Parts: sequence; structure tokens; C-alpha cells
Amino acid sequence: MSVSQHIIDDTLRTPQGEDAYTIVEKLTDAGFDTWWVGGCVRDMLLGRIPEDIDIATGALPEEVKVLFPKADMTAAPVGSVRIPLRKRSFEVTTFREDDAASNGRHPEAVVFGTREQDAKRRDITVNAMYWNPISRALFDPFDGEADLKERLIRFIGDPAIRIKHDALRMLRAVRFRATLHGQYHPETYRALQEQAPLVEILSGQRLREELEKMLLCPHPDRALEDLWELGILQRFLPELAECKGIPQPADYHHEGDVWDHTLMITRAFTAEHGIDTRLAALFHDCGKTKTFSLKERIRFDHHASISAELAAQALSRLQMPQRRREKICWVIEHHMMMGSFASMNDERKSHWYYHPWFPELLQVFWLDIAGTDPADFSLYEEIVADEQHFLDSHPRPPKPLLTGEDIMDALGIPPGEEVGKMLQTLYEAQIRGEIATKKEALARMKGLGADRTDSAQRGA
Ligand code: ATP
Ligand code: MG
Repeated sequence: MSVSQHIIDDTLRTPQGEDAYTIVEKLTDAGFDTWWVGGCVRDMLLGRIPEDIDIATGALPEEVKVLFPKADMTAAPVGSVRIPLRKRSFEVTTFREDDAASNGRHPEAVVFGTREQDAKRRDITVNAMYWNPISRALFDPFDGEADLKERLIRFIGDPAIRIKHDALRMLRAVRFRATLHGQYHPETYRALQEQAPLVEILSGQRLREELEKMLLCPHPDRALEDLWELGILQRFLPELAECKGIPQPADYHHEGDVWDHTLMITRAFTAEHGIDTRLAALFHDCGKTKTFSLKERIRFDHHASISAELAAQALSRLQMPQRRREKICWVIEHHMMMGSFASMNDERKSHWYYHPWFPELLQVFWLDIAGTDPADFSLYEEIVADEQHFLDSHPRPPKPLLTGEDIMDALGIPPGEEVGKMLQTLYEAQIRGEIATKKEALARMKGLGADRTDSAQRGA
């Protein structure tokens, strides 16, 4: 299963392949042992042209910087540098040892080491392969190639100890098993089950980044199922884990309970669905766990707003930036509005159809249906047609050329009524076609600002 000649040729012909070759060549010529490593080697062995090529080297970051003066030492984790070439940049990491005590929390404590030590600190065998684009040699100290052939996800070293050193490796193992359509090595699986509670010590930020990668990977449903089965999800996202066993009205949801519905939605993700849409879809029904009642049929009254509240709590825990959290929760809160749009008057319609987050709301409507059996898209199609008709007859108003912040910065004034008035005046000038660029808006604003200073001085 070695890297096939045609994948080598095709990869080296891509711009990133050419550039990553050049970097290895230059470092090798200067006497430093340098290799492609990790995901790119895994991809090439699988017969895929890698998108990102990471490089590992015996050169210290300062030494890399001497050869590549444009290298940025602050744009990469400690012990790595980022080399910008053409439109991309490459992460070049100095061989290092495992940081046994860090649990990913003290990335500043880096101990440089040999290539062998560098391989030992990596998470799973299929991620610890090195390929040299010049000699074409494969350095594969843990038989990653054999594991890849069997699609085995196997921790390097003692799995329990490696998880204790960095618990994020549990989530990574789950993601790679989903991505590679793989299976766990028995000892890896046992360690994941036993160490599951350690997920609680991870920082919100690292958990969020990994959750986002999982939702963007080819089979998020598989990853979520594994997290549940391993007892990780209950500690990581209890509001989602509780969806299992919450029944839905049988007539409308042949797919099963709330958890089954959520998984079916994640199976319907397409390349068009951005990460915020995916997160909103993931949490959109978690409020059903708190609102279940059996009336004339199973009902979940007000579940959309409860789901939004629970999602807000989960996303805060995950240190989601506020603006994105607001957007995701707004979409969740309004996901039950599908029936209301066509009967609205134009003013109400304009509120929704011009809303900057409406596209994500529409995507969640679509996903909600796609995750339901039987799926009925008729109401969704009505909304899209109505929106299109509305936008054709009421073109979207242009975006203001300047923001309040631009005005405050340029004039050095604090927030307040004056900024609002200035925004309004400039926007009216823009609608009348008197100004069309940011530069013209700034010039007009300076004129207005000068009037203001004059009158203030006259008044003084
Ligand atoms: P992809 O980018 O396709 O998700 P990748 O293998 O390149 O996969 P990255 O997260 O980019 O994964 O990490 C690059 C490499 O760094 C991995 O292949 C692995 O060898 C190593 N690595 C990353 N995170 C860890 C970790 N927490 N513990 C040990 N090794 C890690
Ligand atoms: Mg990578």
C-alpha cells in the first residue's frame, strides 16, 4: 500500500505540493532532517491528493526563520513557524517530545527532540507517518501503514496514559474513526470507555474546535453515535445526550426519537452548510427533553425557545464568541416559524427576508425536514418562492458604506446620538446616489464633522 507513483506525481504538480517540496529541499540542503508528516501522508497512502501539507524538521524555529525570512513565529503554536508561500502558508514544526504533563493546556512548554521522539508524541498510528518528497522514503515507526489498510484507529503507546496526557485525543480518535470509516483497536476502544470522564477537564475552546471539525467531517453522525456509546457525550454535551429516549409523535416522525432525528439531520449536511448552520441544526430540538407532554398527541410546546436557551448555555461553556452564539441561538429560536411567512404583510416580510441570518434559518428549515421521515418539503418550497418573489419586487436595500465604528474612529467621538444622526444622513446620501464608495462617505462625513465643529465653536 505504499504511496503510489501517480499520487506522488499528481501531488507534486499541485501548487501546495510544489511549495512543500521546495521547503523540504531548502531545509535538507542546509543539513536539517525534514519530512512531510501526519494527515498529508495518511491521505496520500489512501490515494488522495492532500490539501494541507504539514512539515516536521530537525531545524529549530530560529533556524527555519533564517532560511525563510518571511516565516512567522507568532502565527503558529510554540515550536512551529508558519511559512507563507504564494496564497498558502505551511506549518513547519520542529521535532519535539510529548509534553506529558500539559493536557494541552500549556503549549508554551515545548521540549525539542529527535524524529523518533516526535513520532511517539503523536496521537494515533496512522497520523505518525512521515514521507520524504526527495528520497520518497516512508518513516513509519508504528506500522501506521498496516493499520491504515485495516482502517484501525490505534493510540500510540499506552492508550490510557496518552489520554491522561491529553484528553482531547479521545475526541480526535472518534473523529478519525468517523472520517476514515474506521474501526477501533480493542485496547484503544477500552481506554476510550474507561477514560471518558476525562473529557470534563478540557477547555471549552479546545472542545469547540474539535466539535466543529467533527461536524464538518464526512460522517458526523458516526462520531456523535460513538461519543454517546462511549459515555463521552453525556459529559461533553449532556443537553444532546439526553435527546436519546425522547419519543416524538409517531405519525410525523418515522425516523425515531429526538436523537435519531438529530443524527438524520447531520447525515443530510451538504457542502453548502456552514459551521453555524450545522451547530444550530445540532441543537435545534434539544429543548424537547424539557417540554415533552402527551396531549391529543405528543407535543413539545415552546421547545424552540428552550432549545435556544440550552444551546446558549452549551455554547457559552464552549467559549463560543458572542456574536456567533447569538446567531446560532437566533436560528434555533425561530426554527418553528415555517408556517408564518406567506401570510405576513410586506413590512413583516422585509424584517425576515432582509435579515442577515435568514439564509441560515432557511437552511435549518431544510435540514429539519431532511432529517424527518416522511420528508415533506412543500412548505419550505413555498417560503423560498415567496422570499424570491418578495426580493424581486423589493430589492434588498444597500449595505451602509460606513458603520458606527468607522464614524467614531474617524471623528474620535464617543457612541451616542450624534453617531446615529451621522449614520442616517450618510445613508440617505447613499440612497440618493450622492456617494457610492467608502472613501466618498468618509469625505462627506469629514465635511459634516467640520460643520459640527464650527457650530460647536460658534456656540462656545
Ligand atoms: P486533518 O488536518 O485532516 O484533520 P491531521 O492528521 O493533519 O488531520 P491535525 O489536527 O492537522 O490532523 O494535526 C496534525 C498532526 O499533529 C496529526 O496528524 C498528529 O500527528 C498530530 N497531533 C495533532 N493533535 C494532536 C494531539 N492532541 N496529540 C497528539 N498528536 C497530535
Ligand atoms: Mg492537518
